[in-house]
Amino acid sequence: MECTCSCGATSFQTLGMPLFRFFCHCTICQRFNDAPFADILVFRAEDVALPPPGTVIFDTYRPPPNVQRGKCATCGQPAVTVFTARFLPRLVTVPRPMFKSDAELPSPAAHGFYDMRVSDANDPLPKYEGYFRNQIAFLKHLWLARRP
Ligand SMILES: [Zn+2]
Ligand SMILES: [Zn+2]
Repeated sequence: MECTCSCGATSFQTLGMPLFRFFCHCTICQRFNDAPFADILVFRAEDVALPPPGTVIFDTYRPPPNVQRGKCATCGQPAVTVFTARFLPRLVTVPRPMFKSDAELPSPAAHGFYDMRVSDANDPLPKYEGYFRNQIAFLKHLWLARRP
């Protein structure tokens, strides 16, 4: 699938299906996306062909720097986040607005960090609160999405 920002300067491809999709209400996602919550697709790192260096400006929103969040260097749209935590699989997440349509994307599976929300979500999806519960839920969704 093709990922493109609104100005077109940042463009890259995903080579495999997303593992899952979720809404994240954490304050870092709020700040990164300048929105009440983020709509995020999680990929294995090897399934995303990252944009060429310089296209995206990466920033660490909270130390340690094992999560690098990148915005388009031209228009500032959140484009890609790279996870390099040592004890997790290597993952890359892409915000929903980078995709042209919902047609080939899975439906969101859950709400993360719901205790940090600025507005309520009126849907039947599971809502995870607290850091520890969110870590467990994240690992659970990774496990459910595993494939050979
Ligand atoms: Zn978040
Ligand atoms: Zn752009």
